[in-house]
Amino acid sequence: MTEANPYESLQEQIDEAADFLDIPRDHIERLKRPERVLETTLSVEMDDGSVEVFDAYRSQFNGDRGPYKGGIRYHPGVSRDEVKALSGWMVYKCAAVDIPYGGGKGGIEIDPSEYSEGELERITRSFAKELRPLIGVDRDIPAPDVNTGQREMNWIKDTYETMEGTTAPGVITGKAIDSGGSAGRVEATGRSVMLTTREAYDHFGKDISEATVAVQGYGNAGAIAARLLDDLGADIVAASDSAGAIYNPDGLAERAAREHKFETGQLTGFEGATEEFSNEELLTMDVDVLIPAALENAIDAELAERVQADMIVEAANGPLTPDADYVLTERDVAVFPDILANAGGVIVSYFEWVQNRQRMSWTEERVNSELERYVEDAFDAMVEAHETHGTPNYRTAMYAVALQRVQNAAEEAGIWP
Ligand code: GLU
Repeated sequence: MTEANPYESLQEQIDEAADFLDIPRDHIERLKRPERVLETTLSVEMDDGSVEVFDAYRSQFNGDRGPYKGGIRYHPGVSRDEVKALSGWMVYKCAAVDIPYGGGKGGIEIDPSEYSEGELERITRSFAKELRPLIGVDRDIPAPDVNTGQREMNWIKDTYETMEGTTAPGVITGKAIDSGGSAGRVEATGRSVMLTTREAYDHFGKDISEATVAVQGYGNAGAIAARLLDDLGADIVAASDSAGAIYNPDGLAERAAREHKFETGQLTGFEGATEEFSNEELLTMDVDVLIPAALENAIDAELAERVQADMIVEAANGPLTPDADYVLTERDVAVFPDILANAGGVIVSYFEWVQNRQRMSWTEERVNSELERYVEDAFDAMVEAHETHGTPNYRTAMYAVALQRVQNAAEEAGIWP
């Protein structure tokens, strides 16, 4: 498998959309690079008294439309280029769904499963201390990403508030409810994946209850998308995690499969499956909808040649390499891009931030219905751009919409020294 550099992938995606827009090339160049990147080393005392050092980053890609916004991931694969790419994808994601943010992303190069809770708390607070001068309710607002969740967000909020001597729940989103979180935030990414799939089916005049679906990655995004699509009557026939894939042609009993994963830590071994196979086999299965919900570069050009699904809905960030995109466009496989499909997370983060600023809370019903409106509007804008610009695929159409919105804000502000 060829490892595409995600930062180069992002830049290719921007260039492709720029071809359909009337934006000067020199302006496009500034929209392809981060404004600044913090690279820092965290030195943290372990439970046994030894000290370990960790590389950590925060990239602030573009702030033309509002404060930098985006998650923090804990993963051994975190690198400067990965964080830069992910922060750029956030810029275009926020612009695609029209929420008033720029884009940022952070990460620590770590496998969190190897550390105790106390160690993780010290590592997180150490990172929060480094982030403190950069972040703020109106400056840069982190959130969860791969291997981080409410617990880490609560620690970062508390560190920031303690050091600043104030209360500022809107400095970070994805918090637990009692720490200022929003109803519906945990489910939001999976929910926008479901909504995008539903809209795509409506757009093609097909019935979602007849869809067969394969989901690669059974974390927060993949498992919840599977559950919500199952609720619409679709058949989740295959699902995988890092240990392997499970399959049942009549549909996996989705709730039982999720319970099995919760109890044993993996999907394999689930008694409701008729077959087990590898992750790669799942990606090339003959299903209607394929949902990559793990990490970047899951599908390269070689694998894309063998994809049998009619439609791909990207729950992960950057799961297709640009070469895979090219192959899938040629093969007429409809790809619904990450910057739309997984935007539910940041959309509900936006609602959380609005609630924090207002010091009041919305019902889950209100959150979900507002989320639905944002996803539907973005979907419609993407389809319109696809038709008016004649873009080769939906990703380029969505990027064209987003890029134009960022450029409008930049132009209205003007270039200032
Ligand atoms: N990490 C999520 C993403 O990639 C959410 C970001 C946020 O809520 O700010 O979109």
